[in-house]
Amino acid sequence: MPIDPVLVVHGGAWAMPDEMVDAHLSGVRNALATGWRVLARGGPALDAIEEAVVIMEDDETFDAGRGSFLNRDGKVQLDALIMDGATLRAGGVGCVERLSNPVRAARKILSESPHVYFVGEGAERFAAEHGVELCRNEDLIIQREVEHLRKYQLEVADPASGKDLFAPAISHDTVGAVALDREGNIAAATSTGGTLNKAPGRLGDSSLIGCGCYADNLSAAVSTTGWGEPIMKLVLAKWTADRVSAGNLPEWAAKEAMNYLQQRLNGHGGIIVLNAQGQFGIAHNTPRMAWATKTIHKEEAGIERSV
Ligand code: ASP
Repeated sequence: MPIDPVLVVHGGAWAMPDEMVDAHLSGVRNALATGWRVLARGGPALDAIEEAVVIMEDDETFDAGRGSFLNRDGKVQLDALIMDGATLRAGGVGCVERLSNPVRAARKILSESPHVYFVGEGAERFAAEHGVELCRNEDLIIQREVEHLRKYQLEVADPASGKDLFAPAISHDTVGAVALDREGNIAAATSTGGTLNKAPGRLGDSSLIGCGCYADNLSAAVSTTGWGEPIMKLVLAKWTADRVSAGNLPEWAAKEAMNYLQQRLNGHGGIIVLNAQGQFGIAHNTPRMAWATKTIHKEEAGIERSV
C-alpha cells in the first residue's frame, strides 16, 4: 500500500523581528508547495526536498543562495548537503562562491559521484562538468547584505560594543527540508550562506553530514539551523536521529536536541525531524523559527513552536 507523504521545511531560527515574519512565512509556504507537487505525483523524497530548497535558495529572504550573508571579505560562500535515507548516499558542497543553487550541485554529487563532499573550486568544477551553471559571486550579493555586513562590522564586531557575536538576535536564516515519499523513503537537505562576517573558508554545521543534516530510513531525516559551531561539536543531526532509532518519537527527539544544545554548549538554533512512519517534530530554542508542514490531511506554517 502506498505510504502517505509528508513534507517539512524550515527557513531559519532566531529572534526574527515582526517586520520580517511575512516574508519568511511566504517563503516557507512557497517551498512547501513546490516540494509537495513532487510528492503528490508520487515522486521521490529526494526530488521534493531538492526542489523545496531551490525555492528558498532563490528567495532573497533567506541566508541561502542569492541574498546570503556576506563573509568578512564581503563575499558569499555557500554550503549545502543532501542525503538519501534509503541508500545513505549523500552529496555536500562547502565554501562555494559561484553556485546560485548549491543544493543542485550537492544532488549531482549524491547521484553521479563516488565521493560525498567537494569544497571550493573543486566543487564548482564538478558542478560545471555535470551541467550545473556557474555564476559570478557578485550575482549572489544584494545591497541589503552589503549594508548588513557594514553595520555589523562597525557595531557588533567591535569588542568594545559589548555585544554577543552569537546571540540569537543575530540572524540564522539557513533553509532545510525533510520528506517522506510514497515508497516509504525519507531524505533531508540543508543549504546556507553560513554566519554573517564569518572568516573566509569557515564551514558551519549545515553541510556536514550528521551535524546540520542527516537521513536514514532506519532512524530519521533531520535538518538543523542556528549557531553552527556548537551544533557541529555535538554532531546534532545524527545525535537526534539516534534517539529516534532508539524508539523515541521525532517530536520528543527534536525537543531533547534543543535542550542538549542549550545545556551542553549554551548553543541555540532549530531542528526539523521526520521518521519513515511520517511522524515529525519541530523545535527551536530561539524566540522564532520559520517552518511549514504538509501531510495529506493538513497544511500548516508558523514562526513559533514552543520547545
Ligand atoms: N548553521 C548555520 C551555520 O552556522 C547558520 C544558520 O543556521 O543560519 O553556518
